[in-house]
Amino acid sequence: MTESSSEKLIEVLRKAVSRTSMLAEGNDPKLDSVVRQIRLAITKGANATEIQAVLNDAEPLLIQSDEAQLARAKQVRNCLQELIDLLEQQEQKNVPQNEKKQLEAQIRMHWQASSQWPGLLKGFLSLAEKTLSQTDSNKPKSSFFKSFFNSKTDTAVSKNDHEVMGEISHTLAGLMNNLMLPSHYDDDIADLKKALVGNKNLQQLPALLDEIINLIMVAIGKTQENLTNYLNQLNKQLASINDSISNSYNSQKNLSESREGFNTRLQMQVTDTSQAVQDASDLDSLKSLINEKMTTISSTMTEYRTQMLEQEKHANQSITQLKNKVTRMEKDTASLRSLLQEKLAQAMTDSLTDLPNRTAYQDAILPLCKIMQKTQKPICLAVCDIDHFKKVNDTWGHLAGDKVLRLVPKQIRNILLKQDHIFRYGGEEFVIIFPEANIEQAIQRAEAIRLAVEKTPFNMQGEPVSISVSIGVAELKPQEDPESLFSRADKQLYLAKESGRNRVMAHK
Ligand code: GH3
Ligand code: MG
Ligand code: MG
Repeated sequence: MTESSSEKLIEVLRKAVSRTSMLAEGNDPKLDSVVRQIRLAITKGANATEIQAVLNDAEPLLIQSDEAQLARAKQVRNCLQELIDLLEQQEQKNVPQNEKKQLEAQIRMHWQASSQWPGLLKGFLSLAEKTLSQTDSNKPKSSFFKSFFNSKTDTAVSKNDHEVMGEISHTLAGLMNNLMLPSHYDDDIADLKKALVGNKNLQQLPALLDEIINLIMVAIGKTQENLTNYLNQLNKQLASINDSISNSYNSQKNLSESREGFNTRLQMQVTDTSQAVQDASDLDSLKSLINEKMTTISSTMTEYRTQMLEQEKHANQSITQLKNKVTRMEKDTASLRSLLQEKLAQAMTDSLTDLPNRTAYQDAILPLCKIMQKTQKPICLAVCDIDHFKKVNDTWGHLAGDKVLRLVPKQIRNILLKQDHIFRYGGEEFVIIFPEANIEQAIQRAEAIRLAVEKTPFNMQGEPVSISVSIGVAELKPQEDPESLFSRADKQLYLAKESGRNRVMAHK
């Protein structure tokens, strides 16, 4: 069920309840049938349009019935007032004015509610008791009830009482006509009317009045029971609407907080209504109570919808903002990534020679050693240092020194194989890795390097200058770490320097 259709249904149900509650005591067969149809439509889960159609058919009948009910209530009010007036007409008996006024106030307040009629009649009974039990000297004697029920000791009923009883009986019979009780009470009413009309014995008035009151109470109680069942069904319907809304609402993401609040509230309102229906003692309070509860539920729904729309709008805005943010972030990330790569490459490269630097060497050597150890292939390391380089700087200047630093690795590169790597380790020192080369192959290549450098004439301010390098070589041992390998190669470089320079020394 969608949100708007459930809301529409609630609205229709609300109207249904308020209107059918007016019918609760109706005995019009046409109306009874309409009420049954509505009840059926609601229980079988008809949609709002179907229920609306049934209600539209019922509307003129409902209005008619409502008007008839009002007319009956007016008659009852007039009857009650007539009964009080009759009491006032009693000679030598004074109607207690305080109680009379209280009763009249009660009548003014409650005459429209049929559920209050038994109470009003009881009020009249009490007033009649107090009035009629007065002695001629205005002193109250025994109770009206006691005096009548204790008939053996009672004195003869005065002629005045007979007349009064006659008139009261007549008025009460008229009131009975106006009660419009359901048809299965017809026989009871006929019996009671007969007893009233033919009766001139004031003694029997309390008993007769009691019967009338009981009859009304039973009739109203029965109708209320029906209405209670109907309202209980309505509650189930509301609970299922609540479930549907919860389900559809559940499917929406990121709204859990308000959903919980709303569900709890609606659930509470439904439970509340259910409890209130159980507790309601009369039809009128039930009617207004249901109207009130329905209005609360309806406004919760409206509030919910407004909140939903607001949240949807908010969520859409958030999503758009989020999308924009993500797009921006993606762009930023892409440019950052390339910047980072650039910086990283810079950090790994020596700017003078464009060779990978010492950091790059340290990154490269460990994985290379591991893979060679794993595949049981040889790997050698050469540490190569320009001989007497300080002198170059001193003699030809620092720029000439730089030039030598750029040219020497070019000579070295000419000797290296594709898989070999050269790094500028620092100053005028280079490190060369010979993967897959054993110590002999490495020495061979190192020797070739040494020779190539030695043979190359370096042009210094127009003069050819010869440069040489010393190289220390070592082969990685099984289980050896790169630091140890370097240290052994470096030691060989030291030895090469020691033994006169321009030579290759290897640790075998
Ligand atoms: P040895 O044969 O024992 O290696 O003697 P050497 O002079 O080569 O070694 P030493 O360590 O005494 O001097 C190395 C010099 O290299 C000192 C330093 O100024 C110079 N040097 C280091 N880096 C650079 C550079 O980037 N450019 C220039 N021009 N000179 C550098
Ligand atoms: Mg040197
Ligand atoms: Mg050096």
